Amino acid sequence: MIFLKTEDEIDLMRAANQLVAKTLTEVGKIVTPGVTTRQLDKVAEEFIRDHGGIPTFLGFPNPSGEPFPASICTSVNGQVVHGIPSDEPLKDGDIVSVDCGALLDGFNGDSCYTFRVGEVSEETNRLLKVTKEALYLGIEAARVGRRIGDIGYAVQQHVESNGYGVVREFVGHGIGRDMHEEPQVPNYGKRGDGKMIKNGLCIAIEPMIVSGSPQIWMLPDKWTIVTRDGGMAAHYEHTIAVHQGKTEILSSFEEIEKIENQY
Ligand code: MG
Ligand code: MG
Repeated sequence: MIFLKTEDEIDLMRAANQLVAKTLTEVGKIVTPGVTTRQLDKVAEEFIRDHGGIPTFLGFPNPSGEPFPASICTSVNGQVVHGIPSDEPLKDGDIVSVDCGALLDGFNGDSCYTFRVGEVSEETNRLLKVTKEALYLGIEAARVGRRIGDIGYAVQQHVESNGYGVVREFVGHGIGRDMHEEPQVPNYGKRGDGKMIKNGLCIAIEPMIVSGSPQIWMLPDKWTIVTRDGGMAAHYEHTIAVHQGKTEILSSFEEIEKIENQY
């Protein structure tokens, strides 16, 4: 069942997602060669709690019932999603996808940004650019009267026409009082397929895109998802609300991009 949100609820969703955006900005400020993903996690957890939120990922169970041990997922290079923060320092040329969720006043925010560590290769830059473009094309397709499949179609077309692969096993999702609600929002699909997009719909759109084959493995830690061929993976995610006939992005990359452009 899809829970369509009222305007008051969307206000709360916006606040939760702005907290996530600010948290990712704080993380982005310290992403640099030599920093560990555990340090990024510490900054994120403190920032969320200092602003009255609860880090949703901390303790979130995997299908085996084991709790996620950190407040953010940090997926480096060929790691696609659900990477666990560690004491391994990031290196120049790495990329790290930081996925962050926070619960604030009963509603969830969820957003992910793939950060560059120092200078990355032209190839990696192109993967990041195409993945981010795919996210915004997906958002553009999410309009009242269209269907969920239109979103996946837009993402998939852009990604595959640029020679990249779409990971199938993980998808976007409805979001609200729960981090994962109906409907699922795949990053592939057919035009005109799936549920109708209506006012009040809040969803997270999150293309997980790889430079090579979209085949994945799960590491023995039962969390980290990696590309089988060792190719690079990028992941950008926004939470959006469709309301009053318009589509609003509730999360934001604005401040993150300002920091990035200082380099
Ligand atoms: Mg997320
Ligand atoms: Mg999500």
